[in-house]
Amino acid sequence: MKSISKSSKLSNVCYDIRGPVLDKARQMEDEGQQIIKLNIGNVAAFGLLPPDEIVQDMIRNLPSSTAAGYTDSKGLFAPRKAVVHYCQEQGIKGVGVEDVYLGNGASELIVMALNALLDDGMEVLVPMPDYPLYTAAVALSGGRPVHYLCDEANGWLPDLDDIRAKITPQTRAIVVINPNNPTGALYPTDLLLGILEIARQHELVVLADEIYDKTLYDGAVHTAMGSLSEDVLTLTFNGLSKNYRSCGFRSGWMVVSGDKRHAQDYITGLNMLASMRLCANTPGQLAIQTALGGYQSIKDLVAPGGRLARQRELAYELLTQIPGVSVVKPKGALYMFPRLDPKIYPIEDDQQFAYELLAEERVLIVQGTGFNWKSPDHFRLVFLPHADDLTEAIVRIERFLHQYRRR
Ligand code: PLP
Repeated sequence: MKSISKSSKLSNVCYDIRGPVLDKARQMEDEGQQIIKLNIGNVAAFGLLPPDEIVQDMIRNLPSSTAAGYTDSKGLFAPRKAVVHYCQEQGIKGVGVEDVYLGNGASELIVMALNALLDDGMEVLVPMPDYPLYTAAVALSGGRPVHYLCDEANGWLPDLDDIRAKITPQTRAIVVINPNNPTGALYPTDLLLGILEIARQHELVVLADEIYDKTLYDGAVHTAMGSLSEDVLTLTFNGLSKNYRSCGFRSGWMVVSGDKRHAQDYITGLNMLASMRLCANTPGQLAIQTALGGYQSIKDLVAPGGRLARQRELAYELLTQIPGVSVVKPKGALYMFPRLDPKIYPIEDDQQFAYELLAEERVLIVQGTGFNWKSPDHFRLVFLPHADDLTEAIVRIERFLHQYRRR
C-alpha cells in the first residue's frame, strides 16, 4: 500500500519545544517517574492560575457567549475596543476597532499574518535565537526564514549591521520579539528606532511580538514598537496567555498600525484568512475586556519581592555559580538562555544533551538549537517552578554537568 506522507511544506518546519525530548519525558512519566519541567512557559502548570476576576467573569459570560455563536471574524466589538484602548495607553496611534483581530491565542494570528503575506521564496528576517513558531510559520507559508543575530555579548540585543547585511530584494518583513523569548532581553527605544528605520528604507512589514510587555523586572519599561512610527506597517501581537496567566483560554490579538494606504491588498488577505477560520472562541474573546480593564496583570509577581522576580534571581544566582555556565540576566519574560562554554562542555548534539539530562537527572530543558541557535552550546529554561523545585532542578543540572566535564 502507498504510504501516506506529510506535505513537503512541512519539510523545513520544526518545533522542538514540543519535540522528541518531550516525547521521552511523557514516556518516563507514564512509567511513574517524576520530572522537573523547565521546558515550556505554561504558567498554569506552576500554580500561576488566571486571576479570579477573569475566571468569574468568564463563568458569568458563558451564557451570552453560547448565545453569540460565531462572532464577526475579527471578533466582538467590546473586546476589540478594549484592545484599542490598550493601544492608546501604549501610544500606538491611529488604531480603530477595524485594525484589531482577535485570535485563538497570538499563535493563530502569527501564522495567519505570514500566510497572508508570503509567496514562495519571499524572505522574512527572524531573530536568532528565535521563538521557533516564526521560523516554522515562515517555512509553512512557502517563505524563507533568514536569521539575524541577537548578540549575547551585547545583552542579546539585535545586531543592526547583521540585519542590514541580510536584506535582499526578496525580504518582506522583520520579526521583533520584545521582551524576548528565549533570551529575556528588553530592547531600548533607540534600537527599536534603528530597526524601524531599516524597515522604512526597505519597505518591510514589522511583526512586533509583545506578548511579554508587562512581564518586566527591576522596574524596566517597555516601549511598544507601534508607538514609535506612524508610517511603517506594524503588526503587533499580544494576548492573555502570559501577562494575564490565561494561556488555556487561547485568547490573543493582532493590531495593524502605521500607514495602511499601501497595504490594502495585504489587509484584504488578512481579512480573508480571518474569515476562513470563522472566528476566535467567544469565551476567550470576552475575557479580554476584564483582563485589560483592571488590575489583572502579572505585575505583582514580577515586582521586586514578587514570586517570579525571586525565582529569576534564584535561577540566575545558581546557574552562574556552575563552572563554564554564563547567563545574561533577563529583563523580561519567563526564560533564560544559558551558555555552556564549549571548551568545558564539548557538546556535539544538544538534543542528545537534553535527552541525557532528562534520562539521568529527570530534568527537562529545551536545547538551544530548538530556537534556531546554530551552535550546540545553549539551552533554555523557564524559571516558573517554585523555589524548591527550581533549586532542585539546577542542583541536578550542576551534577549532570559535573559528570559531563569528566567524560
Ligand atoms: N509569542 C511568543 C514570543 C511566545 O513566547 C508565545 C508562547 O510561548 C506565543 C507567542 C504564543 O502565545 P499564545 O499563547 O497567545 O498563542
